[in-house]
Amino acid sequence: MRERSAHHWIANEYVAGSGKRTPVIDPATGAPSAEFAHATPDEIDKALQAATRAQREWWGMSALDRANAMHRIAERMLAMSAVTGEVLTREMGKPFRESNWEGGASASAFRYYAEIARNEQGRVAGPALPGQLHMVVKEPLGTIVSIVPFNFPVLLFGWQAAAALAAGNAVVVKPSELTPLTLLTVMEAFDHLPAGLVQVVTGGAEVGQTLVAHEHTHGVAFTGSVPAARAVAQTAAERFKPALIEASGNDPFIVMPSAPLDAVARGAAFAAFLNCGQVCTSAERFYVHEEIYDDFVAALTVQAKSLRVGSGLDKVDVGPMASVRERDRVERIVARAVEQGAKVVTGGQRPRHLSAGAFYEPTVLEVQPDFDIMHGECFGPLAPICKVRDLDEAIALANDSQLGLGANIYTEDLAEAFRAVNEIESGIVWVNTPLNDNDAIPFGGRKFTGAGRELGAEGLEQFRRSKMVMIAPTAQPDPEWFPYPDGDAFSA
Ligand code: NAD
Repeated sequence: MRERSAHHWIANEYVAGSGKRTPVIDPATGAPSAEFAHATPDEIDKALQAATRAQREWWGMSALDRANAMHRIAERMLAMSAVTGEVLTREMGKPFRESNWEGGASASAFRYYAEIARNEQGRVAGPALPGQLHMVVKEPLGTIVSIVPFNFPVLLFGWQAAAALAAGNAVVVKPSELTPLTLLTVMEAFDHLPAGLVQVVTGGAEVGQTLVAHEHTHGVAFTGSVPAARAVAQTAAERFKPALIEASGNDPFIVMPSAPLDAVARGAAFAAFLNCGQVCTSAERFYVHEEIYDDFVAALTVQAKSLRVGSGLDKVDVGPMASVRERDRVERIVARAVEQGAKVVTGGQRPRHLSAGAFYEPTVLEVQPDFDIMHGECFGPLAPICKVRDLDEAIALANDSQLGLGANIYTEDLAEAFRAVNEIESGIVWVNTPLNDNDAIPFGGRKFTGAGRELGAEGLEQFRRSKMVMIAPTAQPDPEWFPYPDGDAFSA
């Protein structure tokens, strides 16, 4: 990974960055592993000029050739997923199995969009004038700036870039400051495309803002926290640029008595502790029916204690948090919960066997619904649990949130499942199958989680605009034109 340290990927070449540099820290050891460069305005100009040229070439190709090029991306990403995975684990800590999985999952989105994009490019309407052809033609926006977070850099880049490319756009990606090298590495799978069609420029919020505001950026796709989302959405809105916004979640997880406890406890542990709880759809608030509350707390505690925590390159289930700053933030959330009366059932501290790194134990807490921990995104390995009387109370508490990404319910009672699907205010509801997704179904949230959708046919529409086209077969005068007949004039 050192050979790409402090580089950008511009016009299909690794280019040494000339701007300020910041170290990249391995969160499992605390040691610096590389650096990233903050892109300068000049480097950003170069990238966006290359994108403009490449986009014209890309859109000039046949839809079939574009589809074939996207299938080639998928093959190459899959072939290098272990290489990318190692870099990702060294940058943000997740277990290698999860990092390796991201390459394949991202490739799957490229395959899906390769095909649906050539399936249709608009529609023909019944003509409003006889003998004419009236159409909606779908066109690309131009160049899309994609700003991605640290938690699933390869997957989330893939979801946005696949749809944007399929729609005919160029893409400039700005990775998180914590995972710049991963996306630079992935670019090896893109060098068969027109030079500049997909590029990576690194840097912080200021680079993101410059990219969004730039006159040669035509659309924005953002994934990250609510404050950053708001800043990006404002910059885009002032310039009337369409912006897909995927921000934070604090997903509820409801457990009803009809669900088999063993499966629920394993599903709950996965939903709370996958990627050390740093998933936008992590289960963040558990609402458990009083009949099974004690048994559920005990079963989830057994699961949490059994998880092996350590370096993502070892045989572990849970790695470190992505940075010491993130770990310290989670420690503050737990301290506040304890101050408000939470009982720490297990965890609540740094693992004793790991002296360095940003590790934190999988933690189970018993809390009350009004505690702060239930009213913001924790984004860490925490499972705070509340006891509820019935499904009415669980759904009311689930909806007591400013965010609305995903929601889980475990039940084998069909009527309860239907109520959850219909009544929970979220963009996703999972019944007995936490945290899954499907390239063919749109993913996204409500409320302050954001606006717009990734994946599915809806995801393609985020990156296309429609053009109204009317064609008369011959050039004939229209009876509606001048001169107007005197008989149509106003008469008192
Ligand atoms: P973050 O908001 O700190 O950073 C995300 C990206 O935005 C980074 O590339 C960052 O450099 C950039 N950025 C930050 N401030 C900016 C600004 N003012 N202008 C332009 N760019 C700016 O988020 P993070 O800590 O990397 O990721 C965690 C967050 O992402 C969580 O809140 C999580 O829920 C969210 N997330 C949401 C989804 C979703 O699909 N809804 C998916 C994954 C992660």
